[in-house]
Amino acid sequence: RHSNTHIFIILGASGDLAKKKIYPTLWWLFRDGLLPDDTYFVGFARSKLTVEDIKTACLPHMKVTDEDSECLSAFFSKNSYLSGMYDDDSSFTQLDAHLSSLPRGADANRLFYLALPPTVYQHVSTNINTHCMSRRGWSRVIVEKPFGRDLQSSEELSAHLSSMFTEDQIYRIDHYLGKEMVQNLMVLRFGNRIFGPIWNRNSVACVVLTFKEPFGTQGRGGYFDDFGIIRLETLIHIKLLLTLIPPCFLIPVIIDVVLGQYVGDAKGEGHSKLGYLDDPTIPEGSCTPTFATVVLYVQNERWDGVPFILRCGKALNEQKAEVRLQFTDVPGDIFGERCQRNELVVRVQPDEAIYLKMMTKRPGVYFSPEETELDLTYRSRYKNMKLPDAYERLILDVFCGNQMHFVRSDELREAWRIFTPLLHRMEGEKTRPIPYTYGSRGPNEADDLVKRVGFRYKGTYKWVKPHRT
Ligand code: NAP
Ligand code: NAP
Repeated sequence: RHSNTHIFIILGASGDLAKKKIYPTLWWLFRDGLLPDDTYFVGFARSKLTVEDIKTACLPHMKVTDEDSECLSAFFSKNSYLSGMYDDDSSFTQLDAHLSSLPRGADANRLFYLALPPTVYQHVSTNINTHCMSRRGWSRVIVEKPFGRDLQSSEELSAHLSSMFTEDQIYRIDHYLGKEMVQNLMVLRFGNRIFGPIWNRNSVACVVLTFKEPFGTQGRGGYFDDFGIIRLETLIHIKLLLTLIPPCFLIPVIIDVVLGQYVGDAKGEGHSKLGYLDDPTIPEGSCTPTFATVVLYVQNERWDGVPFILRCGKALNEQKAEVRLQFTDVPGDIFGERCQRNELVVRVQPDEAIYLKMMTKRPGVYFSPEETELDLTYRSRYKNMKLPDAYERLILDVFCGNQMHFVRSDELREAWRIFTPLLHRMEGEKTRPIPYTYGSRGPNEADDLVKRVGFRYKGTYKWVKPHRT
């Protein structure tokens, strides 16, 4: 018999992620009635805290309104907190005793969120496995990125986790995978007759995945410098890439890369005056890239020769995450080179949109082609609709046992296999990344590279916001 009771255990409940994301997300799901009725929340960390302390720390991030007060009390009445050590058996026997002491707790399904630095993962997962598994319900473990430092360390971590849990108990979370438009990629690709036949090397000139951030490290760079942009961002591109292309006979190889590091903008204001190396939390002379453009090819029948361009960076000109397919030129040009390539753009954030750049006749008495777009802007099409936050969706997925939007161990291995040689070479040679100015589009060398591999940019496209009647 399956249990209807669930216990959500946050290990590292005193931390930043717990306070800013996990507790607020659990509250929103609770408030909106999306969680199973009998759900309890248990925080665990070394700090000696009370539920009241957790509440005080989380409230600024929970967006509570006056009408919520009763519901909020109900939420916190389902919360408890236990302090203990991560490498200590007795702490986890106490945790288990506490879980079992909750109503129907021994048999309840248990979700463990490891909101902890990866250094304690091994201890914690061993202790969960030895002491805290549900007696009759299921147990699932949510693991945060970064998932290792390279292929070997990631494999060790995966091997350890898989000696403790089965693959269907492990949920490797990355919040990008919970975004509406990322989840939409599958529907777009497999639910439309018009895309299937052109989704290949005959029609696609290149695929560009872009994650841009307008901020630098702003005095909190220690963690970033430890891992670098490739480990923190680019790996997740691979999961997206696997969503876009059927993974049969997949052998991606990196062909070229441009790495950058931002320097301050002397004419800028505030943080933008400061370069990466001006951040006091960054080790002197660090060669960690804050920008990367990586070109890789997928050597199978469908994608041979099509560059997949992964771009990500900090301290750039804008905030943006998007997937862009650029199609090949129209054969047999009858318009005297006045047609630009079609592009299908899925903008993940901000302002979710899908647009297809295309040529039409310029309106009026003219007979010339003009660039325009078929535009689905979510804000206009789905008015007043609130899209769930990425964490809300993903945490619900864990309750439901849906692993589609999590990183599987074989996908992770593939991503590390692709990037580890590059990371090792970079770190071995201590290659100095190319400087680029805070607030720019990144180093020019990156544009040169994408041009060289076949991306075309003419600068002629002008977007006109739809007129309102
Ligand atoms: P954190 O605040 O640094 O750590 C969480 C908790 O772990 C701390 O409150 C602390 O609790 C315990 N802890 C910290 N350092 C420890 C150490 N050296 N040994 C043992 N325990 C230690 O981390 P976080 O920002 O919440 O992130 C948690 C995990 O999520 C990390 O793996 C991080 O990479 C990942 N992540 C975070 C974010 C984010 O927005 N913060 C985003 C994506 C991924 P006690 O001292 O009370 O035990
Ligand atoms: P675009 O400005 O023609 O840019 C197309 C691509 O070329 C982008 O990936 C861009 O990179 C790259 N690029 C820009 N300057 C370059 C240069 N000097 N050398 C090489 N590559 C360069 O077209 P777009 O970005 O698709 O659209 C233009 C604007 O209209 C955007 O702000 C877009 O959000 C907006 N728009 C909005 C909607 C909507 O809301 N529904 C619909 C259509 C267009 P970067 O990514 O670094 O810029």
